[in-house]
Amino acid sequence: MTNHSLGKAFLTAQTWALLVVVLFTTRPLLAQPTPDSDPRVAKAVASVSESRLRQLVQQLAAFGTRHTLSNSTSSTSGIGAARQWIFDELKRTSPKLQVSFDTYQLAPQGRILREVELRNVIAVLPGRSPRRIYVTAHYDSVNAGGVASVTRPVGQAAVDPQMRADQEFDTPAPGANDNASGTALTLELARVLAESGMEFDATLVFALWAGEEQVSIGAHAHAARLAADKTTVVEAVFNSDIVGNSRGGNGVVDAESVRVYSEGPEDSMSRAIARYVQARGAVYLPSHRVRLMARADRFSRGSDHMAFNQLGFAGVVFREANEDFSRQHAQADVVEGIDFAYLAQNTRLSLASVASLAVAPPAPRVNDAKGASTIGRQPSGYDANLRWDPSPTAVTYRIYWRDTWTNDWQHSQVVGNVTTVVLPNVSIDDFVFGVSAIGPSGSESLISPYVAVSQRLPDVKMAP
Ligand SMILES: [Zn+2]
Repeated sequence: MTNHSLGKAFLTAQTWALLVVVLFTTRPLLAQPTPDSDPRVAKAVASVSESRLRQLVQQLAAFGTRHTLSNSTSSTSGIGAARQWIFDELKRTSPKLQVSFDTYQLAPQGRILREVELRNVIAVLPGRSPRRIYVTAHYDSVNAGGVASVTRPVGQAAVDPQMRADQEFDTPAPGANDNASGTALTLELARVLAESGMEFDATLVFALWAGEEQVSIGAHAHAARLAADKTTVVEAVFNSDIVGNSRGGNGVVDAESVRVYSEGPEDSMSRAIARYVQARGAVYLPSHRVRLMARADRFSRGSDHMAFNQLGFAGVVFREANEDFSRQHAQADVVEGIDFAYLAQNTRLSLASVASLAVAPPAPRVNDAKGASTIGRQPSGYDANLRWDPSPTAVTYRIYWRDTWTNDWQHSQVVGNVTTVVLPNVSIDDFVFGVSAIGPSGSESLISPYVAVSQRLPDVKMAP
């Protein structure tokens, strides 16, 4: 972010921001919004264990396969042994975690070639409020013939190896990176956050999905149950899928960055989560670059967060910097392909984001009962009038703004414990505005953006 090219708009923004300073606060204007560091979060980030991540990935890969349709009765190999071990590991981790299987009897459909019992593994860490933050990864794996199933040449006929009736579900599919890496990351967040002694406002849900390789069927079933329930508030989904390898199949090595994908449009709450991750990364893990990707996932590929997105829940996915396609969906996805120092960095980033959000108040509501944004031009008709509903536990609020033709918030200002701010003679047509809630410890919520409801013209009626 740079202010050099903002020109006249920036000067205008500064001019009226100074007005806000005079009107609402004694804190200095922040040119580049950065959150404060919370020592509790920093301590939790520092307690991530690289050696535990290694043990977890080794154990998960040792089940031979975790294919959703593989052996469910063996105690040493296949999906049954894997899910029971994940369940037991969460139980062992902390008595604060409420561990359960989330079970579905699936009919044959798509790549689910026969009836099967699918089990997600869920661990809940209750917070003061019922609003939920999901930390998720799929634990199932697949051997679908490797690279051909990932990088199909342009124009080649689409043959889905997972649709073949004669396939063998117990063939080796160690899935060390896809996705024992994300599973280990999630299990490590469960351990650190449960043991941290921190009091969370949000209820944390650690979810390990099955059926991702059959198009996110486990996550989709769970999200559909949440959507039907209508009372559960899911604030954010942090999904990790393939986060442990730093050497791309093209030889490019990058252990210093990670990609975070989020669905549009630019002021969706999924994008708000992505920006939140980048801002926390800058505070708690400045050496690790967060590369935000303005799309739901990699080109024509997907994961479990998209099942949530499809049902209206905000969520993002973490993806390693450079993938090695030759290992994916193949017997070659082995532990030797994992860079555990890199996986630990990605774990720290996810942890910093999740912990910060979980201790913060919920984001302020900036929509009225009909869904319209609570922003207007009053009182002169040429002012920016921002209103929001008070957020429980908030002690102050921070407003944000940016040019409309940019993605990152450019300016912010703490405005005190108010629920209305008027910016005289500032055009709501020329800037995007948002507001966050800040709790007693300085912890900050997601930023709620003011978004105009898109208007659809009625069809033109012609005379007969
Ligand atoms: Zn995956």
